[in-house]
Amino acid sequence: MPDRHPWLHCPPAHPQIEAIPALRDNYFWLIAGPDGRAAAVVDPGEAAPVQAALAAHNYTLGAILLTHHHGDHVGGVAELARQWDCEVFGPATEAIAGVTVPLSDGSTITPAGLGTTFQVIDVPGHTRGHIAYFAASHGRDARPVLFCGDTLFAGGCGRIFEGTPEQLLASLDRLAGLPEDTLVYCAHEYTVSNLRFALAAEPGSAELGARNDEALRMRAAGIATVPTSIAVERRTNPFLRCEEDEIRDTVATRLGRAPRSRVEIFAELRAWKNQFA
Ligand code: ZN
Ligand code: FE
Repeated sequence: MPDRHPWLHCPPAHPQIEAIPALRDNYFWLIAGPDGRAAAVVDPGEAAPVQAALAAHNYTLGAILLTHHHGDHVGGVAELARQWDCEVFGPATEAIAGVTVPLSDGSTITPAGLGTTFQVIDVPGHTRGHIAYFAASHGRDARPVLFCGDTLFAGGCGRIFEGTPEQLLASLDRLAGLPEDTLVYCAHEYTVSNLRFALAAEPGSAELGARNDEALRMRAAGIATVPTSIAVERRTNPFLRCEEDEIRDTVATRLGRAPRSRVEIFAELRAWKNQFA
């Protein structure tokens, strides 16, 4: 069979959204406006790599979008906001210095210079006030885009630091309900370790095996495995598949009894992942 596309599970990236790899394994997302002059950045955990990317493209920074309060997502805000006359969007219920526009579920924003309207979705669980940003499309590309911080990852999900399993599962359910072709921009390159865990949870999935092979090839070639898409996550991310028979069976074996609920399956998967080596 001919290779349709070298990466079957990673959609071609959006032409106006660029990864700034930084810190250990973070991606800060640089979103360019349609005129190629202004840009916004999502979750800048430090300023220097963002400044370098802006300078390389000769962009001005019009907006900073924050998903939650952790240092690897907000560490660059103060320095960037000192240099640039930019709005700083962030969750209303988290204490983040420098936020100028506090947001909550259902808020819509149109960051300066982007011409794109984002809808804010509350996705508590990793942190209590975590938010995600969804746009039906951006610029010349028709696909929807989602910036979801540390909530939904390629092949996995964030740790539960402040919320409950019920909350994080409900948040992931909301994201899984977005259009299947949505490009999912999460904040870390965790895909290979996530898929290794996913294979332990759902070893019989041929598609998951193929995705894992692809992710290993991409990382060996130094290619980002993000963005992913809602369609790919629904088919291969165990945290979106708690009702699948094989995952339920895996969890039942670990518990030594039938799980009582979907939330219990999710909670057990998340706890198992925390100590999965
Ligand atoms: Zn975090
Ligand atoms: Fe993080």
